Amino acid sequence: MAGERINHQWRLASRPTGRLGQADFMWHEEPMPAPNQGQAIVRVIHLSLDPTQRIWASDMPQYMPPVEIGEVMRGGGIGIVEESRIAGLALGDLVSGLVGWQEYVLVDESAPPSRITPAPGVPLTAYLGLFSHIGATAYFGLEDVAPARAGETVVVTAAAGAVGSIAGQIARAKNCRVIGVAGSDEKCRWITDELGLDVAINYRAEPDLTAALGRACPNGIDVVFENVGGAQLDASLAHINLGGRIAICGLISTYEAQAPVPGPYRFSNVLMKRVRLRGFIVSDFVERFPEAMQALGEWYGAGKVKYRVNVVDGLENAPSALNKLFDGTNKGKLIVRVSDEPNS
Ligand code: NDP
Repeated sequence: MAGERINHQWRLASRPTGRLGQADFMWHEEPMPAPNQGQAIVRVIHLSLDPTQRIWASDMPQYMPPVEIGEVMRGGGIGIVEESRIAGLALGDLVSGLVGWQEYVLVDESAPPSRITPAPGVPLTAYLGLFSHIGATAYFGLEDVAPARAGETVVVTAAAGAVGSIAGQIARAKNCRVIGVAGSDEKCRWITDELGLDVAINYRAEPDLTAALGRACPNGIDVVFENVGGAQLDASLAHINLGGRIAICGLISTYEAQAPVPGPYRFSNVLMKRVRLRGFIVSDFVERFPEAMQALGEWYGAGKVKYRVNVVDGLENAPSALNKLFDGTNKGKLIVRVSDEPNS
């Protein structure tokens, strides 16, 4: 009941420098207020950990306001309605939205969360790992930002990650030849043997990524789905074809940088090869999310798109778990289980 819930939260304590640490956050507890008319209380079940949270915690130029010091850390997630005074939002409804790094969130009808109705047999975590901003990012990156056509060569970086693994499979579903770059032999085996990518390159074991990409792409590269930036983007630029397209989805190799990062050394190829290079944020396509969910549902149903999740138990572990995205130890969509799913 209202007034009896204690809400544990992680609040931002300082702007991280380099790799963030536990000390950049403070553990806070406070009682949950009773919801007023037009408000509801949602218990957080799963919290999504995303590389962008490292950006939100800093004050670098970004696409949303940074999280202020003292604020609850921002994060997307899935929860269940425990009390509702919002018309159309009922007790027990499953919802997704920006829930924050906390156990409960007070939502307001002015910014209501989205309802989720899991399809029979589909785990709730699929609504973070695939049918979510993750799947939509991969979909719009290849559908709109850097369209890939059958027979073309597509390179995906961070190809075993949440977004990259979906992007690689979508490119395969479009009958492209797909080369994935990833950071371990296990990840490389997974994307070729399980997901069906044509070639995987372990950049950590490969002394010359540019040469390796050249060997893997004898007809050059038509489309790059870029998640990493830096040296990996440079390696693709070395082999980009005339009229190539590059989707700048993410630049994770730069998010912890403490000084300005130099641009790609081979930037002149954007001119010489008349490349279309475009950055995007998935929210640019929010009106078209149903289209992405429909396509992902069809590919998933047909066994053409799979996903995996890496669930870490306990909100208290969120700060350390976030670093898995930066040391590469996450295997698939990184999620923190904050509380039990219904009927579990
Ligand atoms: P992932 O699940 O891909 O995890 C991040 C992975 O990036 C790590 O596992 C690691 O994989 C790789 N990585 C981390 N640091 C480095 C580095 N210094 N050099 C090379 N590789 C590194 O995370 P997401 O799928 O959530 O995100 C992937 C990218 O997509 C990020 O850049 C993110 O910001 C971006 N993104 C963009 C969105 C948009 O709207 N534009 C929306 C969602 C994500 P490995 O072991 O293979 O090195």
